Amino acid sequence: MLEIKFIRQNPEMLQRISDQKGITLSIKELLVWDEKKRLLLKETELLRETRNNLSQQFANSSQHGKPNDLESIKAAAKEVNQQLNEVETALTEAVTQFHTLMILVPNVISPDTPIGRSDEDNVEIKRVGEIPCFDFEPKDHVKLGEIHAIIDIPRGVKVAGKRNYFLKGNGLFLHRAVQQLTLDLLADRGFTALDVPLMVRGAALSNTAFFPLGVDQTFKIAEEDKWLVGTSEVPMVSYYSDEIIDVTEPIKLAAISACFRSEIGAAGKDVHGLYRVHQFAKVEQVILCENDPLVSERILQEITQNAEEIMQLLELPYRIVAVCTGDMSQKTYKQYDIETWMPSRQAYGETHSSSNLHDFQARRSNIRYRTADGTLQYCHTLNNTAVASPRILIPLLENHQEADGSIRIPKALQKYMNGLERITI
Ligand code: AMP
Repeated sequence: MLEIKFIRQNPEMLQRISDQKGITLSIKELLVWDEKKRLLLKETELLRETRNNLSQQFANSSQHGKPNDLESIKAAAKEVNQQLNEVETALTEAVTQFHTLMILVPNVISPDTPIGRSDEDNVEIKRVGEIPCFDFEPKDHVKLGEIHAIIDIPRGVKVAGKRNYFLKGNGLFLHRAVQQLTLDLLADRGFTALDVPLMVRGAALSNTAFFPLGVDQTFKIAEEDKWLVGTSEVPMVSYYSDEIIDVTEPIKLAAISACFRSEIGAAGKDVHGLYRVHQFAKVEQVILCENDPLVSERILQEITQNAEEIMQLLELPYRIVAVCTGDMSQKTYKQYDIETWMPSRQAYGETHSSSNLHDFQARRSNIRYRTADGTLQYCHTLNNTAVASPRILIPLLENHQEADGSIRIPKALQKYMNGLERITI
């Protein structure tokens, strides 16, 4: 959410950003409703004042026994009430229209955000690690999962429909191992670990700016105002909604959670294997800090670095891209993605996102803190995927496979796998 004053002062810039982010919105129309709302509010106040005066006059005339005056006051009051009814109805309509558009206004973007239409326009910043060069025919993760009986997609589809899977034995242990390794690393860095509600109210999704634009991505519990979260960012940020918090030191939270996504709009895309599924697990970092662009920029680098360290512990080749406007969400000010090398795709595939939202989410969620001079200020919020599985199993299985079909377990993961050094047939 941006301040209406800021929107009034910067309509062209915000229209440009809406277009660049692919949001269907007319800032001009928003400002028309804003103006109408202001005028109607003034009119309502004037009419209420007139009505109050007439009531007062009526009371005075009754007291002083002036029956003739009473009739004309009554007629005037009737007229005013009628006008007030009409103006109030128009005001309700203007307020509704204003809020419907206001909630679509995008956050501004950082000056270094690339302008582009889709992920193809993201800009590579760096590459880390060697892409493996196999001297045998490598298998993809689906085949490896089958051979080792650790991933069962056909039965996932039989039981739960498309984009579902079972993980078995070492598949499940690997899935849990990457999450525990990540949580331990973040706990070491001072993050508070959280278990979070996975079904939240619609308000939590609106306040964190996932609604209204992401409503079709979200599974709803029938006949209740309860929705399955697509990321624990929603309950973590909402934990502090409508509160005044202390951000003298940044608040660092990390949750392990299941995430649910309808993936509407991705029909026919990434249908093979574990890349795009309806249910996955994620360790997410969320930070709340003071409203200082230099501080939140430093934290953005830090949380991205945390994710990078996890990738290095997993011994996976990856690259970092600066995410362009067209691949960015409404709430984002600046974003990096980490993409990991996936041999079966012969390409880097997105495995992590790291975003600075400035005070956009905190305004919607009403999360404030007191500055040194005692004024209340909205904080900045940031979030980052520390690890998401089973997508991360794709590069883990595929990059670490060997000629005999076995899969090497990276050293840092072995202690979370009961010392297992490789998965063998
Ligand atoms: P996002 O919250 O959309 O930035 O996604 C964060 C990470 O979660 C992605 O980089 C993926 O690793 C993972 N992810 C997102 N959507 C899916 C999905 N449908 N299936 C599997 N993993 C996903």
